[in-house]
Amino acid sequence: MKPHRPSKVTPTTINQDGSRFFIHPADVQGFFTRWRRMFALLLIGIYVLLPWIPINGNPAVFLDVINRRFHLFGLTFVAQDLWMAFFFITGLGFSLFFVTALFGRIWCGWACPHTVFLEHVYRRIERWIEGDATARRKLDAAPWDSEKITKVALKNAIFVCISAAIAHLFLAYFVSIPELYRWMTTSPTEHWGAFVFMFVATAIIYFNFAWFREQLCLIICPYGRLQSALIDDDSIIIGYDAGRGEPRGPAKKEGFGDCINCYRCVQVCPTGIDIRQGLQMECVGCANCIDACDTIMNKLSRPRGLIRYDSQAGLNGQRRRIIRPRIFIYGALMLAGAAAFTLSALQLRSANMNIVRMTGAPYYVTDTSVRNQYMVRVINKSNKERTFSLMATAEGQSYRLEGNESGIIVAAMGEEVRPVIITIAREDYLGRFPIEFTLIDPEGKDILRREAEFLGPNPQLLNAQP
Ligand code: SF4
Ligand code: SF4
Repeated sequence: MKPHRPSKVTPTTINQDGSRFFIHPADVQGFFTRWRRMFALLLIGIYVLLPWIPINGNPAVFLDVINRRFHLFGLTFVAQDLWMAFFFITGLGFSLFFVTALFGRIWCGWACPHTVFLEHVYRRIERWIEGDATARRKLDAAPWDSEKITKVALKNAIFVCISAAIAHLFLAYFVSIPELYRWMTTSPTEHWGAFVFMFVATAIIYFNFAWFREQLCLIICPYGRLQSALIDDDSIIIGYDAGRGEPRGPAKKEGFGDCINCYRCVQVCPTGIDIRQGLQMECVGCANCIDACDTIMNKLSRPRGLIRYDSQAGLNGQRRRIIRPRIFIYGALMLAGAAAFTLSALQLRSANMNIVRMTGAPYYVTDTSVRNQYMVRVINKSNKERTFSLMATAEGQSYRLEGNESGIIVAAMGEEVRPVIITIAREDYLGRFPIEFTLIDPEGKDILRREAEFLGPNPQLLNAQP
């Protein structure tokens, strides 16, 4: 079978006639493959376990969108806390900038869920059922006999099951495991929305990992394109030492570099590129080519590292620099985002309160008093029912608070909206004044304060009235 040779001018996954060239990367063993596999298992373990591990009575990660409660490692955020997401997302974005400036596309090769599941789950199953890259290519070209039908059907049946498991786990992050289990054990007619979501999510995951594969990195993911803006000649990338490798030629002949032009680095590449053509947008930093080339170098008793983690400067024989201005800038922005998020998370309380004036008239005047009505919304973020007490204070004013006589009882993870009335005697009313509402939790620990204003008519006009 004719080996696939990447071109310098056309994408590696498109044939001359424009059809898809389906890549079957060869299997590879080595130092980085081993560590990537262990890291991938760790990441998959974390993904599977997070919805099961309870912290403070909630799953470690539970994004309860329906009730607008977001539980992250023991902290509970409600919709009013979502402003913190700005710091979280910007901190995360700058972390990616920082890591990319330092280590190129290490995220893609080691931690991206697409790579982790494709390389360490789906591709392994495919190899197990259909054989190595040569056997898979032969099977693709073979007629649909019973052997091909059995292998392809078995592989795809397993792919569908795994895709469904990934989709179910994904949904568990949003509905919790008990709710997911309830849905799984009841008729789809009782939860059509979730059933359709699960069906579509499974289909998309299956399509992506069974067929679309590296096209996601090459066509859809914007990160590869961002790479050229984020890295410089001192970023650590995976590169080929042309000074040592060129000119390429047979191992046994004199006058050639260390590259014997065996194409092993190309055969193991999941995006089908030739790293010897330099850093390319298609390189997902998987390090397969390093292990492949190191194996060849071992066999030839030549030093490893013809393809290696190094900076462009290092590969060109220049001085390597880790500390440089962009590292400081991205690092400072990352730390600023992380610090702002940490500080705001430390301010989180186990309850939330907001106060708005009742719709309609801003105040009521009776024969004896002036009244203001407010709506108090209390959100209980804990897992037990709690009775909160509400106080109102306004310096130098004498008034009466109604609506808090027996406290505000709020169910676990629930919210309570309660009207409260502040009344002041007509003769005591001297004009509008600020008023502070204080909510105290049953343990007296969390104290929330909100400002409001007591409104009324012009006191001179009020007192002039009979
Ligand atoms: S695996 Fe190493 S020796 Fe073989 S072609 Fe690639 S760079 Fe050259
Ligand atoms: S060039 Fe090497 S590191 Fe880049 S995607 Fe291909 S095999 Fe992985």
